[in-house]
Formats: sequence, structure tokens, C-alpha cells
Amino acid sequence: MKTTVIDHIGIAVSDINEALKFWEGSLGIKCAGVETVEDQKVKTAFLPIKESEVELLEATSPESPIAKFIEKKGEGIHHIAIRVDNLEAALAELKGKNIRLIDETPRKGAGGAMIAFIHPKATGGILLELSQR
Ligand code: ZN
Repeated sequence: MKTTVIDHIGIAVSDINEALKFWEGSLGIKCAGVETVEDQKVKTAFLPIKESEVELLEATSPESPIAKFIEKKGEGIHHIAIRVDNLEAALAELKGKNIRLIDETPRKGAGGAMIAFIHPKATGGILLELSQR
């Protein structure tokens, strides 16, 4: 699989504005935008660090995967995303290797990216996202 960079690290937070006080206020990393992804019931804030980003994720509904994550584990790193050149090809390759996927086909993520998640059972316990910009 052709990977490029760590695209972003997704961090589950209870309150984006509260979290931004630390990321922007204390660390001085500027937020490049806030976006709601209806599909995932999350509000996201992007903080670019060179070619990668920190992505703060706040649930917009109790049904959101982020709400469930925080309920179970508390705030913290939710997923890591690796950028690929060709997501369809990457998924086909993983399917060929019998890797357990959450998304068999790409779906729309924040920032107009196409994304797919690999199941934590296949990765040694972390939620791994593949992202094509
Ligand atoms: Zn992500």
C-alpha cells in the first residue's frame, strides 16, 4: 500500500471550545476550521501541524461514536489516520489480505476527504483510518 504521511490524529473531547483553550491558547497551534460531519454525528476542529493535523472531535449526539468512546474510555486519542494516494486500491489490497475493515468502501470524511476505518481487532487495538485527500 502506498502511504504518505500521518494525515491526522483524532482526539475525542467533551467540549471543543474548552479543548481549543489548550491547543490554541497554550500551545499556540491555530485552528484552521471547524466542521460538523453529520454522518458521524461529530463536530471537528482542525489544527494543522506541518502536513499533518490534530483533529479534535466532539459528539453532537449521544448516539455519536465519540460520545460512546468518551463514555467508555474518557477523553483521549480516538484514532490515527494515514494518508494514502488511492483509497480504493488500499482497501482492495487489505481485503485481499483478509484484514478486518469497518468500511469496505470509502465514505466522506471531514474536509472533503474520502476515508475508511480498519477494525481495531486487525491493528492491535487502535482505530486506524485511511484517508485520501
Ligand atoms: Zn479522522
